Amino acid sequence: LFKSGAHFSMSVGHLDQLPEDGVPEIAFAGRSNVGKSSLLNALCAQHGLARTSNTPGRTQLLNLFPVGKPPELRLVDMPGYGFAKAPKKVVDQWKRLVFDYLRGRPTLRRVMLLIDVRRGIKDVDLDVMAMLDEAAVTYQIVLTKGDKVKQTGAAWNVAEAGRQIARRPAAFPLVLATSAEKNEGLDELRVAMLDAARA
Ligand code: GDP
Repeated sequence: LFKSGAHFSMSVGHLDQLPEDGVPEIAFAGRSNVGKSSLLNALCAQHGLARTSNTPGRTQLLNLFPVGKPPELRLVDMPGYGFAKAPKKVVDQWKRLVFDYLRGRPTLRRVMLLIDVRRGIKDVDLDVMAMLDEAAVTYQIVLTKGDKVKQTGAAWNVAEAGRQIARRPAAFPLVLATSAEKNEGLDELRVAMLDAARA
């Protein structure tokens, strides 16, 4: 499904531009540079599907990638957060777009929250988790760049992330580890996405 059918469909800056076709959505969120574009491209086995690294100040959009024909699910690439130098206006714009989307999108089934395996969960990530908890949208932690640490380190980081989300109301308990570079953990992530979409 993923290898054949993902294509870029559209970018939207307002909720009323989103398609109303009832297709379940899985959104991807994470700090800028976490490896979100690389992971989306690897998941769909398509280079250049998601463009890498939005720069601060650029228009904040949701990028939509339908998967399958007709689409069985839709991937939603959310703008990265956590730019050190982002102007307040940009941060506010991000919050409004993302919060409106989280609160106003019944077809959103799960948010994959990407965390760099070497950095772990930071305060900005906790802020986003608080938003997700408040919006009551299920989110799953996906560690990225797993190839940058040894296997034992990756296992430890998975366990550590699991401990950190244990008491969060909307967190999905299973933490996944991936590497877009080495194509690792992608099938587990695809299965999690399909489970969430079909639930
Ligand atoms: P985005 O800003 O979250 O979309 O991040 P990108 O996908 O643009 O990746 C940011 C940087 O991390 C780039 O230099 C990528 O080459 C690198 N990167 C992304 N995924 C991986 C990975 O799985 N392993 C390694 N080693 N580097 C990665």
